[in-house]
Amino acid sequence: MSKTKIVILGAGYGGLKTLKKLQHENLDAELVLVNKNDYHHETTWLHEAAAGTLDPEKLIYPIEKVVDSKKSTFIQDTVVKINRDEKTVTLQNEGEISYDYLLIALGSEAETFGIPGLKEYALTITSIDSVKKIRARIEEQFAKWKTEQKDELLTIIVGGAGFTGIEFLGELTNRMPELVKTYDIPREKVRIICMEAAPKVLPQFDAKLVDYGVSVLEDRGVEFFVGKPVKEATADGVKFADNETETKEIKAGTIIWAAGVRGNSVIEESGFEAGRGRVKVNNNLTVPGNEEILIIGDCSLIINPENERPYPPTAQIAMQQADVATVNLAKLAKGETDLINFEYHEKGTVCSLGDNDAIGVVFGKNLKGYPASVMKKVIDDRALLQIGGLNIMAKKGKFKFYK
Ligand code: FAD
Repeated sequence: MSKTKIVILGAGYGGLKTLKKLQHENLDAELVLVNKNDYHHETTWLHEAAAGTLDPEKLIYPIEKVVDSKKSTFIQDTVVKINRDEKTVTLQNEGEISYDYLLIALGSEAETFGIPGLKEYALTITSIDSVKKIRARIEEQFAKWKTEQKDELLTIIVGGAGFTGIEFLGELTNRMPELVKTYDIPREKVRIICMEAAPKVLPQFDAKLVDYGVSVLEDRGVEFFVGKPVKEATADGVKFADNETETKEIKAGTIIWAAGVRGNSVIEESGFEAGRGRVKVNNNLTVPGNEEILIIGDCSLIINPENERPYPPTAQIAMQQADVATVNLAKLAKGETDLINFEYHEKGTVCSLGDNDAIGVVFGKNLKGYPASVMKKVIDDRALLQIGGLNIMAKKGKFKFYK
């Protein structure tokens, strides 16, 4: 009889952590991991490579460092579709592979809310390739300014004042002194604009922390356009609603869209019932009607019982879900049916404002400034340790704790 086959799709925080932990279970099962790249990337650090404050090499490590080839097989390929009736997954190059149990952990994609022009003209902070494009775009525009002298080449618009947008602005403003020096540009010619449709910046934090974060970024030259929804992106810039009746336009050489995410498009292409690419999973992380499939991370949706609203998609949740997915996949492989339920334990959230500054709430306490930035580095290093191990953390970790 062939062994039970567990297939894991995605080697991010959720998928790779689950594989690592399943390997320790010593199951009599075949473990297969599929990921489009042969490296794992730290999604939560992508904004740093986008701004050019971190070499992209620093936020990736080879998946083979985690895969134990005696227990698991790694397939580098792109998932195209999940065929639930046949219990197979269609891969771009390898064709179909079968599974007995499936874990989907394919992460997210940018949500453009159907706003015209964003797909064509805006860049996103979603993968190593996409962040390399952002860094190159800003540098190209700055280089062009010398010969063309069009000031809009030096305008950078960031759509979204949530976590990703604010963290990117922190890094970008940290890098700006070096950039203007390299390209010999007067700093006052550079405009960095953050556009947010909602009435508030970083709604998950209390007003004092938000005011601190906004004032730090404003002091570094960021202009906030809050409550001004982007209506269209064009080759030349952005059109936005200035008020209920008036639309205005700002010309810009670079547009970065960081105003929200949706679950991976594979979810909807495979016919799962989903809202914005996220499947509302059972408490034990299985899919209603397909209990042989578990979904974790940004493709899953879990309701916070305290406020009846979905938890926001975070690495923290993906990693906690991985612990529960490991237990439940091991149980399923052994033929056990008493699966355990997922319960989220909020440990805290820290939003970086660049290298030595941040705001956050850790174990219920508000933090800001340098102590918050130290905490952020500890959180980043912890994820490396938990998934990559000690050697990876030693090589890739953030240890510059001095100011
Ligand atoms: P990911 O970790 O993104 O992994 C998905 C994997 O699937 C990737 O390896 C990808 O290459 C692979 N993949 C995707 N599509 C395919 C395909 N079709 N075929 C094969 N492989 C595929 N969360 C926090 O908790 N704290 C933070 O401070 C924080 N900061 C953030 C900062 C930024 C700039 C961003 C972008 C996100 C941040 N988040 C943060 C959110 C967090 O990164 C995500 O919630 C988390 O990465 C989700 O984990 P995941 O396992 O679902 O997906």
